[in-house]
Amino acid sequence: MMANGGYPNSYYAATAVGLAAHPLLKGAESADVCVIGGGYTGLSAALNLAERGFDVVLLEAERIGWGASGRNGGLIGSGQRKDALELEELFGYEQSKAFWDIAEAAKAEIRDRVGRHDIDCDLQFGQIEGVHKQSYIGSSARYAEALAERYDYPHARALSREEVRKMVATDTFLEGLHDTRAMSIHPLNFALGLARAAQEAGVRIFENSRVTDYTRSDPATVHTAQGSVEARFIVLGCNGYLGKLEKRVAGRIMPINNFMIATEPLGESVARELIADRNCVHDTRFVVNYFRTSGDHRLLFGGGENYRRGFPRDIAAFVRPYMLTLFPQLEDARIDYAWGGTLSVTVKRFPQLGRLEPNVFFAHGYSGHGVSIANISGKIIAEAIAGTAERFDVMASIKALPFPGGTLLRYPGMVLGMLYYSLKDKL
Ligand SMILES: Cc1cc2nc3c(=O)[nH]c(=O)nc-3n(C[C@H](O)[C@H](O)[C@H](O)COP(=O)(O)OP(=O)(O)OC[C@H]3O[C@@H](n4cnc5c(N)ncnc54)[C@H](O)[C@@H]3O)c2cc1C
Repeated sequence: MMANGGYPNSYYAATAVGLAAHPLLKGAESADVCVIGGGYTGLSAALNLAERGFDVVLLEAERIGWGASGRNGGLIGSGQRKDALELEELFGYEQSKAFWDIAEAAKAEIRDRVGRHDIDCDLQFGQIEGVHKQSYIGSSARYAEALAERYDYPHARALSREEVRKMVATDTFLEGLHDTRAMSIHPLNFALGLARAAQEAGVRIFENSRVTDYTRSDPATVHTAQGSVEARFIVLGCNGYLGKLEKRVAGRIMPINNFMIATEPLGESVARELIADRNCVHDTRFVVNYFRTSGDHRLLFGGGENYRRGFPRDIAAFVRPYMLTLFPQLEDARIDYAWGGTLSVTVKRFPQLGRLEPNVFFAHGYSGHGVSIANISGKIIAEAIAGTAERFDVMASIKALPFPGGTLLRYPGMVLGMLYYSLKDKL
């Protein structure tokens, strides 16, 4: 159900700070870059580009943060969606470390943005992974050790069953991993803060402006129902909501729906007993349960997903059993909000960044780990465009003339020419 000015009826929309209405695109605009999508990917790309002096238009089909970026669990985990040891096995240590460092840069980007733009998004430190399966016992200690020894990351510590039980009031965890430098945020307020920063940096934001198509040309023309934007570069940040806009990549991501609930305020002491120190928590299930307490002492709980177009009719009834399996003591807690969102996953659970044309960039498929990786992907695209426009294109504008005689005769031709000039030197 949509309420709150076009946002879903989520706890986040109900506690949004700094909601600002942006106009609908009408008529023809032009810009250096047209960003499509007002989630973290698009906002981060737009903000980073504007800070580099690019003239940017951002087009959002609904409202800023209307998609997954305004509905998610707010968990900012360290590393990538696949853990560093899995990545080591697949790609070797060097590559795995490079992925790890990018994810650390993603966390730094978020911390930096929150501080620099004074974004009121309840940033908290600390994440606990709760191990649910007997055969995984021991994995937390192995992982913490590997991170400390090979990834310059001494901030994760294994928790025994007793220790994890003291921090999270559920009997289901057999051990845990406590990462004191992972974080959580109020996701919509973070998106709204990025939008404000982007606007202050000069980005022109249009809401309720769904892109219907764009030309494959340089410059390209991006069309909405009532307007158009001519731009040298396009950034696609539509993720699970891409639909048929770009068929060349749509088949490589699968949209899936994930769901959350928020209980009534439970009071500070109950909230603190449920989860210590406002850590955020997730478990090791394939369909992961994730949860944390809010600033006003509710339990925000995510669990359950579906792979259809629609959401369950009663989302609260769908998610609540997952919550009660972990926290039967919340049997009587009222559910005040229930909502769902769409994200995209890839076959291998790796994000996809790419370039469809020399001037069309995209990033998506964060597979449930997008709070950090979407933010850094937007920045990476901004760097790629800047590199292209500022340096690459300047150097590439020097046209190389073909050697006379083509590939077949270029060597004899060149040798003759060089002989000629060296003879001239001698004469
Ligand atoms: C319920 C839920 C819980 C999650 N929990 C977590 C979590 O705890 N931690 C984590 O790391 N990740 C989590 N995720 C994933 C994370 O939210 C996403 O990976 C991330 O927000 C993706 O950002 P994005 O900008 O790429 O996409 P989105 O935020 O989905 O933004 C895409 C935007 O593009 C717009 N758009 C689409 N088509 C068009 C068009 N044609 N024209 C104009 N605009 C268009 C959409 O309206 C939308 O606003 C969760 C996702 C969901 C749904």
